[in-house]
Amino acid sequence: MIDLHCHSTCSDGTDTPETLAALADEAGLTALALTDHDTVAGLPRLMACQPTTRCRLLPGIELSCRFLGSEMHVLGLLFDPLDAQLLERVEALRVRRIARNTALLDRLRTLGVPLEWEDVLALAPGDQVSRAHFARALVKKGIVCKPQDAFHRYIGEGAPAYVPFKDLTPGDAAGWIREAGGVALVAHPGRTSRRLFPWDGAMKDLKAQGFVGFEARYSDYGPAEQAYFEALARDLDMLPSGGSDYHGAFKPGIRLGVGRGDLEVPDAWLENLEAAARCGR
Ligand code: AMP
Ligand code: MN
Ligand code: MN
Ligand code: MN
Repeated sequence: MIDLHCHSTCSDGTDTPETLAALADEAGLTALALTDHDTVAGLPRLMACQPTTRCRLLPGIELSCRFLGSEMHVLGLLFDPLDAQLLERVEALRVRRIARNTALLDRLRTLGVPLEWEDVLALAPGDQVSRAHFARALVKKGIVCKPQDAFHRYIGEGAPAYVPFKDLTPGDAAGWIREAGGVALVAHPGRTSRRLFPWDGAMKDLKAQGFVGFEARYSDYGPAEQAYFEALARDLDMLPSGGSDYHGAFKPGIRLGVGRGDLEVPDAWLENLEAAARCGR
């Protein structure tokens, strides 16, 4: 059993890369990929655990993109985590994120929300501050009751303090991953776009732009959704991938490897992805 999607304290997860490596062994996983949002900062720490970890530890990233007017997430797996060009590209994302966070805080203040930068920083143990941390800070200050309300009322797409900054295209993201020796996959299709989105046609276009596959198993898929995406992978001759999207305490109810309890991602799926990475497909 494998898990090719999870987050650490280097983005918006609550477990360190070292803890994730230990949890992977505890769960009896054979492979784990760390896929923090827009950063590879956790990868050297994860890889450093390999000598004492039975589970194979793999490099990954989840890049935030824009696709047809909505946010879309791209998973990169199996790339060289020390690739200089990729590191440079990801560093540019970090700089843009800092500017976005400043603008977001300004907008909240303009709306009369008394949030301080320190309130947000206190909840972000790593280098990266994301909207997940803003949402927790708004809860802690008693401004909203739960994180979901923070997204609805203030910082979610379309809400008054939302500041767009993710204009990377999926095609460019796939190029970044491929040029660093990895494979590009669409993360949780159907989860970040509008409902009833016609994925059949869109996925064909994305394949032409360098995507080798997409997540066909995911913690929050229902049985019908999983069957649909597994069939779509076969129909389009693309590779299925899967993972829990574990965030620790930031996504309660989701465990590494098994998701909400019944997730199971076959080892053979990773072998296929590794073959594709070797072919530079
Ligand atoms: P950022 O990359 O800083 O824009 O923050 C994005 C993160 O915020 C995502 O990875 C999720 O963890 C979280 N997030 C985004 N939208 C929502 C939402 N509607 N409800 C709950 N969490 C969300
Ligand atoms: Mn997240
Ligand atoms: Mn995602
Ligand atoms: Mn994720």
